[in-house]
Amino acid sequence: MAETLKAAIATVLHEPACAVNVAKTDGARKKGCTKQLTPGAAAGGCAFDGAMITLQPIVDVAHLVHAPLACWGNGWDNRGSASSGPQLYRTGFTTDLGELDIVMGHGERKLYRALREVIAAYNPPAVFVYATCVTALTGDDVEAVCKAAAQDFGTPCIPVNVPGFAGSKNLGNKLAGQVLLDHVIGTVEPEAPTPCDINIIGDFNLSGELWQVKPLLDRLGIRVLGAITGDARYRQVAMAHRARVTMLVCSQALINLARGLEERHGIPFFEGSFYGISDTSDALRTMCRMLVDRGAAPDLLDRCEALVAEEEARARAALAPLKPRVAGKRVLLYTGGHKSWSVVSALQELGMEVVGTSTRKATEADKDRIREIMQTDAHMFDNMAPREMYALLRDSGADVLMSGGRSQFVALKARVPWVDVNQEKHEPYAGYVGMVDLVRAIDRAVNNPMWADLRSPAPWDDRPPAAVVLPPLTAGRCPVVHAGTAPAAPPAAALVSGPSDRADFEDC
Ligand code: SF4
Repeated sequence: MAETLKAAIATVLHEPACAVNVAKTDGARKKGCTKQLTPGAAAGGCAFDGAMITLQPIVDVAHLVHAPLACWGNGWDNRGSASSGPQLYRTGFTTDLGELDIVMGHGERKLYRALREVIAAYNPPAVFVYATCVTALTGDDVEAVCKAAAQDFGTPCIPVNVPGFAGSKNLGNKLAGQVLLDHVIGTVEPEAPTPCDINIIGDFNLSGELWQVKPLLDRLGIRVLGAITGDARYRQVAMAHRARVTMLVCSQALINLARGLEERHGIPFFEGSFYGISDTSDALRTMCRMLVDRGAAPDLLDRCEALVAEEEARARAALAPLKPRVAGKRVLLYTGGHKSWSVVSALQELGMEVVGTSTRKATEADKDRIREIMQTDAHMFDNMAPREMYALLRDSGADVLMSGGRSQFVALKARVPWVDVNQEKHEPYAGYVGMVDLVRAIDRAVNNPMWADLRSPAPWDDRPPAAVVLPPLTAGRCPVVHAGTAPAAPPAAALVSGPSDRADFEDC
């Protein structure tokens, strides 16, 4: 492993803002935050995949993967990060290294040419260049090629030296955050900074969730200077060092980035969530209070309270007809990170009972919040095998499973409705509007009459009593050669239609 990569990993694995990490021994810290991958088990993704997840939502840059073709196939478009403009991020660029390139050592030359071709054809504001297992093992100096190409072509070329073997997807998220800190943030100055500029970190605008929150911020006059990295533009990310406050949405993925912004540029951060009515209001209040502390006009607090009151009233009015339809329903929640507590509190607001919630990818702070909300930790679990999930669904009498796509078939097998709340979902559920949409989705699922049909006995299992009593089947008795012998001879015509002999019924 290259020394620069080793140093970058050591930096992100020593995360002073993470209580769990600080409490670990040196040995445990080296293993990273999540379980190491089992060779051959593709589920979960590699570190390169994690870096792509973090950086790909920067929508106006070219993402060039320096690797054989298959690595891009692993990571391309694997999340529904939406863009309000440029679509370049969804074009897959790769150097597509072949065996001959590797054997002959043509990798660096091919990468330089690919950079030239991409910049000439698309003129992007920057190109992100991803190293992968193969090119890290062959020792291609991606940083040197990026430096040369940036000088020659006048476009920033950002080396993302996060090969898959570096570790887990989560480690890849963090290393990508470090790349932004080291190479991008601070390279562009905003024309007119304002005291209400913020960063939002860790919201990837999945299915357009950021757009459900942005109108609220617009009404308060708060500008999202750096959205890292949902619907982001390169220049916008590069200006993030001038924001006044950072909101960290998914602490597990990018806490190092929030802390780095605080240490290097003096931007304080807070953790918050836009899932659920109360959590959205809390996040807005905290954001406004911190902005006022850092120089925004004090009337921001009053305007925030007025907006919260108006939006909460509108959301509760929209939820009123839905609430009786979902109240009392039992939910098994299998998600992760901040959603493990923010969705719990949102469901409890609706009178739903959470029979269990997973704490995958959740920090200790996330777990404390779950305990506080559920008032017990008896219903918290980490990873769960499909068999256990099936048993829990059945034994707890859950009315609905809310999870990611991989668990949907367990729910279907248990004949329980399923609502997608993970990154692959097609509906956004953020902010006040999103909460109403989520409850509509739950209502559609749990009250669909199909489930009553599915759980009732199949028509062929519900037969009337036998109309005719027939002689029992006798094991070992051939119906042909024994035709006409005891115990009873069915009509010959019903058994055979022509001459036959023992060879026709070899099983007899
Ligand atoms: S970076 Fe490595 S682990 Fe990841 S997809 Fe490519 S070869 Fe596989």
